Amino acid sequence: MAAVKTSTSFAHRVLRWFDEHGRKDLPWQRDPTPYRVWVSEIMLQQTQVATVIPYYQRFMESFPDVLTLANAKEDDVLHHWSGLGYYARARNLHEAAQLIRSRHAGKFPRRFDQVMALPGIGRSTAGAILALSAGRRFPILDGNVKRVLARYYAVEGWPGKTSVANTLWEYATQNTPKKRVANYTQAIMDIGATICTRSSPDCVACPLNADCIALREDRTHEVPGKKEKKAKPLRQTQMVIAHHDGAVFLERRPPSGIWGGLWSLPEIDTGADVAAWCHTRLSLNPAETDRWDTLRHSFSHYDLDIAPVVVRLVDSAGQVADNADSLWYDPLKGAQIGLPAPVAKLIQQWTTS
Ligand code: SF4
Repeated sequence: MAAVKTSTSFAHRVLRWFDEHGRKDLPWQRDPTPYRVWVSEIMLQQTQVATVIPYYQRFMESFPDVLTLANAKEDDVLHHWSGLGYYARARNLHEAAQLIRSRHAGKFPRRFDQVMALPGIGRSTAGAILALSAGRRFPILDGNVKRVLARYYAVEGWPGKTSVANTLWEYATQNTPKKRVANYTQAIMDIGATICTRSSPDCVACPLNADCIALREDRTHEVPGKKEKKAKPLRQTQMVIAHHDGAVFLERRPPSGIWGGLWSLPEIDTGADVAAWCHTRLSLNPAETDRWDTLRHSFSHYDLDIAPVVVRLVDSAGQVADNADSLWYDPLKGAQIGLPAPVAKLIQQWTTS
């Protein structure tokens, strides 16, 4: 690892950039309590600021503090997350709020180890919460900051690898200033997100351009190193849009796994007999069946091809009643339930068809 000869000036330049260009009026920067910063940090994982803002505002209106969130129904929390993706984040937030209620009397913990012990909070997020809400000197290293540091110091290798990450953590620690930690933390994240972008860094506008090694060596396109790419597997499924009397049949997903705890259209194997399924699962007969074009949904580790089958059902006598794991859902009545994005899309398409 190269000696850090520029740590003071690094932070100084980042802070000067913050004073001139930094974002200072994001919703979570107003009244930055640990709770408000925490929710924003979790939403901002994998999601851009502009997308997050309206979700964040709605979430804060409904769950203004940690106890309100802890006391909320999981369905309601997931409903507020519908469309943001990566639903484990919402389930972890909810579970962590309940732990804060039981372990810390409803007060967000101030100790780093206690923050880190909450589900869904890693070292960088814990540092960001304490730095942004209380100006405590903890380094952060989210994906954007990794990119800035990797390029500035020309750190070789994929940052997901432990040895590479350790080197980056050392740089992050050494560069975090003793004063104005909150501003520095916001600024270094923003520089990574808006200037030192993955494919076309705007080095002219970057406060670190005077001695950035990747820029000097014209290697910004190859640093940081990439993970060896494996082809994403493709999976296939059929989703049944079984409807009767204006309502569509939904099933709750198991609590863990993809879309855990959300309400989904029933999935059956491709090639399975839809009429037989209606008979067995719903005790209803299909009056007419329509197949729609396949819809592809990409997860981080595989693609899913969904073949939608729309089935109009007749004869409601003996149909499955609503219970904890299944539901006849009338979208026009707007019940507050969490739906995965492709399921919400298919239901929307059905209501307008
Ligand atoms: S000079 Fe360019 S490559 Fe270096 S940190 Fe700034 S934006 Fe990133």
